[in-house]
This record gives sequence, structure tokens and C-alpha cells, in this order.
Amino acid sequence: MKTIGLLGGMSWESTVNYYKAINTGVKNALGGLHSAKICLYSVDFDEIEKLQHQNQWEQTGEILAKAAKRVEAGGADCLLICTNTMHKVAAQIGAEIAIPILHIADATAYALQQQGITRVGLLGTRFTMEQDFYKARLRDKFGIEVLIPNQTERDLVHNVIYNELCLGQVNESSRNAYLEIVESLNQQGAQGVILGCTEIAMLIKQSDTQVPLFDTTEIHANYAVEFALNAK
Ligand code: GLU
Repeated sequence: MKTIGLLGGMSWESTVNYYKAINTGVKNALGGLHSAKICLYSVDFDEIEKLQHQNQWEQTGEILAKAAKRVEAGGADCLLICTNTMHKVAAQIGAEIAIPILHIADATAYALQQQGITRVGLLGTRFTMEQDFYKARLRDKFGIEVLIPNQTERDLVHNVIYNELCLGQVNESSRNAYLEIVESLNQQGAQGVILGCTEIAMLIKQSDTQVPLFDTTEIHANYAVEFALNAK
């Protein structure tokens, strides 16, 4: 079994779910007392979040590249950046390490392709929904068309992530607002919706809606388990 490297803490609320999903995946595959080999470096999210909102992406990349080197030095065979948003600086991080980054958008695209989905809605931070680093990868590499919510809805989705979910708060009113947005994307032609922020599955679940949801935390974690077990 390979060792899975995690760059976590963004936020730690979702890193907990990565840890659980990866260990569950390995246990389901191998049984008994088997668990995943994991090397985790968890950053202080306050520092990263401030730089994001000041548009200092280069600096976030430097911090994360340093952390990634520590994960690699700890014996990891691959790296998962445990947030969709920070894949904006994935190339900057990747340039500093020799182990492969298992890209969250690739993992998600494979999951979409398995369900035959070619047009999908995307929920995430404003950065992920509005900028091109995530959407363009789905479009150019996999031919998947991405729909995003309108401006007012994007503001709501973004604010709930930073002001509630990353603080561990799950509110019924936010759940209902998210579900309305999912419904609206579906009515506009999205065959499914990507939960493109690693905290969103804390808020909405597949049992809440008929629209197929793609939880990037679960998908990314399973992708890593496959890597760890199949690249033996
Ligand atoms: N975890 C979130 C994501 O998947 C947001 C936190 C961050 O900005 O990294 O995008």
C-alpha cells in the first residue's frame, strides 16, 4: 500500500472527513484492522483565508509548497490538496515536489463521466465558481460544460462556506437556500451538481434532493484510495 499525503486544514472541518473517508475506503477494500497509510500536514487556515481575500495567491502557493515538501519528506507517495479552491495554485505546489498531485477536478471529472454527465452545475467558493482554474480543466480536458449560480446566489454560497461551514456551523436556512440553488441549476440544464468545496457535504446530502450530487471530498478521497491500493 502506498502512503497518501494530505495537505489539510482548509478547513480542518473537511480534513476530518478526508481522514475518515480514506480510512473507510481502505478498510472496505482490505477488511479487518486495515487502515490507510497517511501523512498529513495541516495548515493554519486563518493565514490562508486572509491571503485569498487579499488576492495574494502567490504567497498562499509559497506556504502550501513548503507544507507539501514536508509531506513528501514524511514519506508520502502522492499529494492531495484537501480543498478545491487551493487547486488554483496546484502548479506552483507541484513544481516544488517530485510526488504526483492527485487533482480534485480530475477525480471529479472521472466520477461525472462514469455517470454520463456532460453538463454540470458547480457550487464552491467565489474563486472556484468564477475563475477559470477549475472550470476550464473540466471543459478543456474532459469536455464537460459547467453552469454556475447567479451573482446573488454565488455570494450566498461563498459566505456560507467561510462564515458557517468552515467554522463547523450547519444551519437549516442555509441548507434550504443551497437546495434551491441546486434545483435552479438543474432546471437550467445541469444533469448533476458538483459540491465543489470540501465542506458542502456537511450541509447537503444526496438524500435531500433528486438531483445527482458529486461530493468532491468523498470523490477525491476514493481516488486516493485507488491510487494507494492499485499502485502497489
Ligand atoms: N474547502 C473549501 C474548498 O474546497 C474552501 C476553503 C478554501 O478556501 O480552501 O474550496
